[in-house]
Amino acid sequence: MTATNGAPIAEADWEQVVELIRGAGSPALACHVSPDGDALGAMLGFGLALARAGKKVTASFGDRAFSVPRLLRFLPGQELLVEPSAYPAEPSLMITFDASTMERLGLLAPYAGKAGELVVIDHHVSNTRFGSVHLVDPSAAATTMVVEELIGRLGLTIDRDVATCLYTGLVTDTGSFRHSAATPAAHAMAGRLIAAGLHPAEIARELWDRSPFGYLPVLGAALGRVRLEPSEAAGHGLVWTYVSRADRAPHGLPYDEVEGVIDVVRRVDEADVAVVLKEDDEGTWNVSTRSKGAVDVSRACGALGGGGHARAAGFSSSLPPEETIAALRPLLTGAG
Ligand code: AMP
Ligand code: MN
Ligand code: MN
Repeated sequence: MTATNGAPIAEADWEQVVELIRGAGSPALACHVSPDGDALGAMLGFGLALARAGKKVTASFGDRAFSVPRLLRFLPGQELLVEPSAYPAEPSLMITFDASTMERLGLLAPYAGKAGELVVIDHHVSNTRFGSVHLVDPSAAATTMVVEELIGRLGLTIDRDVATCLYTGLVTDTGSFRHSAATPAAHAMAGRLIAAGLHPAEIARELWDRSPFGYLPVLGAALGRVRLEPSEAAGHGLVWTYVSRADRAPHGLPYDEVEGVIDVVRRVDEADVAVVLKEDDEGTWNVSTRSKGAVDVSRACGALGGGGHARAAGFSSSLPPEETIAALRPLLTGAG
């Protein structure tokens, strides 16, 4: 994967996007597959701001099993969502959110190929610039930061619902302002959004402080088999575990409930790199990787067909966990 963008967004690109959006009657929005808080928050927040200005907005994401993760069902604006099968066949203006490559659009990738204009809004340094105009800012903590500026440039309003969506992207991608992405700009944006009337405590509880009971035994199973390999990751240490379909089945626990397992595993002092392999209902293993800074996990995941950020990245695998880890180990070399 080529990292092509380290520069701030050019003024001409902002102006072109503002013009395209002002001229569009029915923009079609899309975010990356298995949407997280930033992908869905950016898309729905922007969609709501446009809808309130009288635009006919369609929004979707390209998962075969189309469903909003339980964690994100509190987000306003879900009435804008349509299944991928109902997406406009050849959108005259399509806008993507938090997707670093065309492939990350899943089932919606062919529509992006046919769009009249394709505006790409993102903050991944690895963004492949697959659109016709790009608002890609790798210094932004979340895609919702780019969206906030765009809403301002369009002269649209950030009401409480829009703010809730944008704030959700900000808190999820900064890990509640704990990661290095929690810049002064990110905190300043949070202040503006809270002033719009949203409730940070309610959002935090929805995102991190609730689970069905079945999560606890599944977490217990994952933690029971966790492995620490101190000499891996160039001597900085690797800690890893997995969560299989078979772990979840007896508890009826949906796949999207296990997203938080990585946040428990990555706290281990003895390892720079943490990895959790999660088997979805189709049998694909989605691999979450985190680094404390000594190893660039986006490089390692990129080499295995995925991508992400230096300290948080992922990829998919059809192999069993032991074999996937065996492929990953030699790629976990020092950063820089
Ligand atoms: P996750 O572990 O699912 O929270 O993902 C962490 C980060 O890795 C996300 O912010 C994405 O940028 C990136 N990522 C995860 N899975 C993939 C993938 N299959 N391809 C590209 N990037 C990914
Ligand atoms: Mn994302
Ligand atoms: Mn993001």
